[in-house]
Amino acid sequence: MTDYLFAPEPVRSVQVLGEAAHYPVRRIFCVGRNYAEHAREMGNEVDREAPFYFTKSAQALVLSGSQIPYPPGTADFHHEMELVVAIGAPAFRVAMAEASRAVFGYGCGLDMTRRDLQAAAKEKRRPWDTGKDFENAAVLGPISRADAFGAVGPQPIALAVSGVVRQEARLADMVWSVEELIAHLSTLYHLGPGDLIFTGTPAGVGAVQPGDVIEGSIDGLAAVSLRISAPA
Ligand code: MN
Repeated sequence: MTDYLFAPEPVRSVQVLGEAAHYPVRRIFCVGRNYAEHAREMGNEVDREAPFYFTKSAQALVLSGSQIPYPPGTADFHHEMELVVAIGAPAFRVAMAEASRAVFGYGCGLDMTRRDLQAAAKEKRRPWDTGKDFENAAVLGPISRADAFGAVGPQPIALAVSGVVRQEARLADMVWSVEELIAHLSTLYHLGPGDLIFTGTPAGVGAVQPGDVIEGSIDGLAAVSLRISAPA
């Protein structure tokens, strides 16, 4: 046993629907601009050159149903509703046809974003970390096994803030499919169990305020919810 100077951070994990064992989280990959209408609302045109990614640390994970304080350093805290892919088997340089074998399951996630910090970073061609990777920035609901969910296709994906619908699309609207994303990301990383992929958000992103309740859903999956309280 290694003797640590202080207690290491516990492993972050998420419930698997109907099962006792939790899914332990290793890494969090996020896809940028994967719905054409969201890319347009952010002032970009979608291209099919290649998907691009950013990451969040596992310590940024917070479970659905939580209440979090409005985060520091921002006046423009945004919701992004996303399908999250949970990897369950090693995948390195996998072909699209084999990519689905790496999928353990799916969940509903929120890629919470300090939009003002992200926008300032973009403008100066600096990294997005402070806009994207911060405490409580990756929200995740319980995971459903892939075979229980079935094929990713026409399922509606939606998000409401305090009862008002803000985002509405279908999973089939994704520019890059789950198989394409895994095949491409596996050219860059040795993907493996515990890796999550937030697959991008539909149009309709927007700001939330203390007191707001965010509720996100994808047909066939457990919903994700988050309550925003006053700054800590
Ligand atoms: Mn996102």
